[in-house]
Amino acid sequence: MSKMRFYALKELTNRSAVEVTPPSSKLSDYYASHVFDRKKMQEYLPREAFKAVMDAIEKATPISREMADLIANGMKSWAKSLNVTHYTHWFQPLTDGTAEKHDGFIEFSEDGGVIERFSGKLLIQQEPDASSFPNGGIRNTFEARGYTAWDVSSPAFVVDTTLCIPTIFISYTGEALDYKTPLLKALAAVDKAATEVCQLFDKNVTRVYANLGWEQEYFLVDLALYNARPDLCLTGRTLMGHSSAKDQQLEDHYFGSIPPRVTSFMKELEIECHKLGIPVKTRHNEVAPNQFELAPIFENANLANDHNQLVMDLMKRIASKHQFAVLFHEKPYSGVNGSGKHNNWSLSTDTGINLFAPGRNPKGNMLFITFLVNVLMMVYKNQNLLRASIASASNCYRLGANEAPPSILSIFLGKQLSAMLDEIVKKVTDTKMTPEEKTILKLGIGRIPEILLDNTDRNRTSPFAFTGNRFEFRATGSSANCAAPMIAINAAMASQLNEFKASVDKLMEEEVGKDEAIFRVLKEMIIASEPIRFEGDGYSEEWKQEAARRGLSNISCVPEALLHYTDHQSRYVLLGEKIFNESELTSRLEVELEKFTKKVQIESRVLGDLAINHIVPIAVSYQNRLLENLRGLKEIFSPEEFETMSGDRKELVREISRRVTAIKTLVAEMIEARKVANNKPTHKEQAFTYDEMVRPYLDKIRDHIDHLEMEIDDDIWPLPKYRELLFNK
Ligand code: ADP
Ligand code: MG
Repeated sequence: MSKMRFYALKELTNRSAVEVTPPSSKLSDYYASHVFDRKKMQEYLPREAFKAVMDAIEKATPISREMADLIANGMKSWAKSLNVTHYTHWFQPLTDGTAEKHDGFIEFSEDGGVIERFSGKLLIQQEPDASSFPNGGIRNTFEARGYTAWDVSSPAFVVDTTLCIPTIFISYTGEALDYKTPLLKALAAVDKAATEVCQLFDKNVTRVYANLGWEQEYFLVDLALYNARPDLCLTGRTLMGHSSAKDQQLEDHYFGSIPPRVTSFMKELEIECHKLGIPVKTRHNEVAPNQFELAPIFENANLANDHNQLVMDLMKRIASKHQFAVLFHEKPYSGVNGSGKHNNWSLSTDTGINLFAPGRNPKGNMLFITFLVNVLMMVYKNQNLLRASIASASNCYRLGANEAPPSILSIFLGKQLSAMLDEIVKKVTDTKMTPEEKTILKLGIGRIPEILLDNTDRNRTSPFAFTGNRFEFRATGSSANCAAPMIAINAAMASQLNEFKASVDKLMEEEVGKDEAIFRVLKEMIIASEPIRFEGDGYSEEWKQEAARRGLSNISCVPEALLHYTDHQSRYVLLGEKIFNESELTSRLEVELEKFTKKVQIESRVLGDLAINHIVPIAVSYQNRLLENLRGLKEIFSPEEFETMSGDRKELVREISRRVTAIKTLVAEMIEARKVANNKPTHKEQAFTYDEMVRPYLDKIRDHIDHLEMEIDDDIWPLPKYRELLFNK
């Protein structure tokens, strides 16, 4: 057996679960101990500085330099109580994951010694070199400066001995180079638009918050086996591997008991999350072997997203302490379920109303119906933007792969709620309604809470499902930054609500009463958005045909999906709501296209190398063993006997030859295809060429390798096999 695989498997025999104990038996004793939250601010900040932070959070008032110094000083005192030595601005560039540059608190003092210093200036701004991060051509390399600036709405926290300050990341000229900046803008836009709509019903509402509850799916794989698979290490997924005789067919993993080594990993992860004020709550096995899920209690979308990014980072680090690698790739193993990251999304008011939950009276229900119908219209009109926001080189292997929603957007409401909307269409008239008509309609709407209580049907195949008090966007990939879909959804919702409000205002100017105006606009929207509502099996073939008949998009090509970032409707939303300016939007598209190209390019290179350097030599050496065996048989037995006994082996020699030749030819062709793609002049053409000309080789080459895996002696096969990767824990 190859040394790598042999030692990897040998190491497994020594694995055991590590004992994990929480800092205290009571969770509330250590929850958020490492967060500079309101309570600690009160303790460590002078009163005026505390007020400055609160005003900045609640009213977006700027923080003066003088206040910043006071805040920085208080933050440092708190951090020192946790033995912190360094600080960093923590930001989310357009790569996978977060970035940080640690600086020590150390500074020379006037008497030649050193002191620990952290000033307001350092708290508020840092200047990382922006040229080392994706920027889509936004700035020239000679102007390499980028700024990070403190996001006051997300509290500072301590990891190990470093104080981390959540920041936005922008170029010298002010353009966003990250996910957080446009997310904050989208959240502000939806806040403004939704508040105005709420005020049609209730003047007390002055703010609307977007909430996000993510569910993070992931795989664990033993660290030694992972290290013995260059494809996993370099691309996050297996580029080859024959399926295991047993994988998920017995359906025995989902919600099954969690193995001890995994449990200790989860325990430690939860403790670390809780110290950082991340309210993780749910953990369980997922459908595929060695696949799991983690979910927190939902929070404000900006904080929830920071927490998701932080959790992904923590998971990687804690996993390695338990001798695991964690895989966030959407499809690390072919043939078994991939991983998604469901985004549960809702809007709620500062008066404590969840706008996606029915109220206790007809007025509350009108508010609910209004927002519900606006969501229908938002998704219907912006299906392509939503699709673009979740498109990536890795998510394309999961979407539509019979365990995940297809590339078609649709909304599941449940039968009763659907019937309710149809009722509105029937009852609302374009002429003035009689008091009786209005009463009947309002009575119907008043029944909604009972309807929903009974309504237990849930559709697991819907990409955008209504689940009682929120919408669940299930097409997000597990490795994604949730900000991308959250920017799209909240910006589109803002735009939609603004249009709705304008239509209602217009009718009211024409002397139509408020209720009636709202009803009429809702009716039009229910009719117009009808094609996006689908209650059936989203994974079925019939739905694809039905969706095509309805004129819904079904985009499986990633570059094509990405181009919708700049189509007419997306520009209307993203530029119109001022989430991006022109150059930010085009550069964002460039970055995404380039990321796609690079990922396919890396996969293609890794597969080419492995095929030629790992697989072909092993196949040839096994073939030589067969040939030796054949020569021996020929020497000893009579020609007749030899003929009868050697047929299968000769066939195998031929088969291996055929596959080795095919692999070599295909790899050579793939390299040529890469050259063609690399020579294309634009990111767009490169991405399309990689998708059309290079990507198909990955499967073709893999197919030969996977067959060889079954034909060649297990003892010499160089890479850990699927059964080993999936079943060791
Ligand atoms: P399921 O697996 O049934 O979808 P989970 O309990 O695993 O449910 O996850 C549901 C997620 O939805 C959790 O993060 C939860 O906090 C979140 N959630 C619940 N209510 C809301 C809401 N009103 N808005 C946003 N997220 C919500
Ligand atoms: Mg869910």
